[in-house]
Parts: sequence; structure tokens; C-alpha cells
Amino acid sequence: MKKRPALIFDHEKLRDNMRTVVGWCNEAGIDVAGVIKVTGGLASAALDYEACGAKWIASSRLEQLARAKAAGVKIPMMMIRVPMLSELDEMVKVCEYSLQSEFTTLRALDEAAIRAGKIHNVILMADLGDLREGFFDPEELIDVAKYTEEVLTGLNLAGVGTNLGCYGSVMPTEEKMKHLVRCAEAVEKAIGRPLEIVSGGATSSMMPMFDGVMPEKVNMLRIGGASFLGSNEETCRIYGRKEMDILHDDAITLEAEVIEVRTKPTHPIGKLGVNAFGKKAVYKDRGDRRRALLAIGGADFGDYNDLLPQLEGSFILGCSGDHTILDIEDCKEKLKVGDVVRFKLYYTAVLHLVSSENVTKYELGEIGVRL
Ligand SMILES: *Cc1c(COP(=O)(O)O)cnc(C)c1O
Repeated sequence: MKKRPALIFDHEKLRDNMRTVVGWCNEAGIDVAGVIKVTGGLASAALDYEACGAKWIASSRLEQLARAKAAGVKIPMMMIRVPMLSELDEMVKVCEYSLQSEFTTLRALDEAAIRAGKIHNVILMADLGDLREGFFDPEELIDVAKYTEEVLTGLNLAGVGTNLGCYGSVMPTEEKMKHLVRCAEAVEKAIGRPLEIVSGGATSSMMPMFDGVMPEKVNMLRIGGASFLGSNEETCRIYGRKEMDILHDDAITLEAEVIEVRTKPTHPIGKLGVNAFGKKAVYKDRGDRRRALLAIGGADFGDYNDLLPQLEGSFILGCSGDHTILDIEDCKEKLKVGDVVRFKLYYTAVLHLVSSENVTKYELGEIGVRL
């Protein structure tokens, strides 16, 4: 019998999505770095991406890339969280590429690469206003690029890149992409040669691509969400983009088991203080309603608003760390103890679920087959 809660990865659907995403990008002259961090670094997802035409496998966590490499992924690995000084020796062994934003780190990385007898490829990040990682002063970016090119013999300056829509919610507009291209051109002028890579961002940067306004010079996107979440990916959902509607939004799903079914009042009875999370909550009195209690909770998925119950007529009333309360009063289907409820998921729920030891992962279909 399947263990529950279960997180289910459907490899056929994942590869369908990856093929579509890579196809869209390639048509626009863009190569894809397949970002696997939302799966917790599932090696099979990296193999899928490789089979579907990604040119790099990328993650924010070194151990995830090491696992993908050990599983036989042949394309280069790219570290996309600016690395810690304490992981550089490990990074040059596991990754061929990384994103960089500090002079101190570049110099230490150069030494680590030389120690390992390798040439490591770096992409210098320009902060165009989202205010997370990256050089903020264009002059500093150019100076560091020139120094990397001329002095740091263990490093290859592969390109420049940017990240948007993460901390600062800044949208990847045509203007921002043009700004990135200007940064790349200034670096090329300073070092006297063209750069291999101009990396324009994540899933959200597919929007200027869909609109046909992506500058030609942008030739890499680092894509996770679109391939794993389809139209449930936040950036396209919130901006109301329809392009991704053709992707599967159920390539990763959750199954939770019913442990109690009862009709109860909807307003708590007694003097109200705080809930399981130490918060003062507001309860709407909807009278008596039938509800199912599920054996999964906030400790597993984070915020219950990131779960989409697939039982028609149901909605989530709330949760505690280990329980979720599903309102089933308006459902045609009668639930009983032992039944299973399926959920589609938003990004942040997947990110939490993959690292919950209470949740068993199941994989459907063949992995990484080449068509
Ligand atoms: C997570 C991440 C990505 C991928 O983001 P998606 O929105 O999942 O496509 C790309 N670049 C960086 C630097 C990231 O941290």
C-alpha cells in the first residue's frame, strides 16, 4: 500500500512541460538552464531536463547538483546561488558554472579552481533593481570583469546575468532586458571580446520572450517553475499570462489521507486566544458543516493557501502543524476515513513538501528517456 502523504512526480508530464519550455526558448534563440531546486534536487528531474534539451542543470544548493552529477547527468552543472567561501573547493569539483557577485569570492574561487586543476566558468550578476544579489554599480561590474579576464587564470568569464522578481518584485520588462544587454556590451568592450552568455533571469523572464521583445543578445534563461508547476507557476498566474496554460499543472501532485469525517460548527466554542501558530485567527460562522480531517499539516507544506484540493466542492478551512481541515459540505462525493484527497500545488508548497520526511515521494513513468 502506498505510504501517505504522498508527493507524486509524473515524469511523462514533466518532460512534456520541459520539451515545450525548451522549445519556446530555443525558438527565441535562448538556451535553458534547467533549475531543479523546487524538487529538492531530484536527480531524475535533472535527467529529464537533460533529455529535453536543457544545456545546463542549475540549483541553489551544491548537494543537489552533486547528486544529479552522480546520477549520470552529462551536461554542465551551474550553481545559481552566489556561493559561500566555505563551499568553493566543493563547488569547483561539482560545477562547471556559477553566478558571482563579490570580488573577494572571485579571487578565492580562482585559487580553488587552480588547486583543483580546473577552469571554472563564471557569470557576473548585475543587480538591475530587484536588490538581491549582483553588482549595483556598473563601473564595479566592469572593473571586476576586466580583472577576472586579465588576472584570474583559474576562471573563464563566461558572461553576465541578472535576476528579477525575487526580493524586489521587479518585473522583467523589455527595459530591464535592454539594460542587461547594455551591461553585457560594456563588459565586452572592456575585455575586447564577445561573451558566451547573457543570462536574462528565471521563469518570469519568459514574459518579454512571449511578447517578442526579448533582445537578441539575451541567450540564456534559468527555468524552474514553468517546467514543474505549469500554469500554477506564480509569475504567469499572477500576471494573468495564458501562454503557460498548455503546460501540465499536475506534473507534481500531493495525496493526503482522511482520518476523521464529521459535521461540526464552523465557529470555535469558548474564550478564544491564539491558534497552533501563536496567531489570533478570525473564524467565520457558517453554521454546522461536514468536514474531513487530513493527516498532513503546515509542518509539511507551509501555507495551506498553496494547496489546491481536487475534490469538487471542497475547500480548506485551515490547518495546524500536522492536521488540515477540509470543508466537504458541498461535495457530491461522500468521503470516509481512509479515503485520499488529491491536491495540485503552488511553488512554495512543493518547496516545503520535498523536504518533509513525513511525505513519501513517488515517481511515475520512465525517467529521462530521449524521444
Ligand atoms: C530559483 C532561481 C531561478 C529559477 O526560478 P524559477 O522562477 O523557478 O524559474 C533562476 N535563477 C536564480 C538565481 C534562482 O535563484
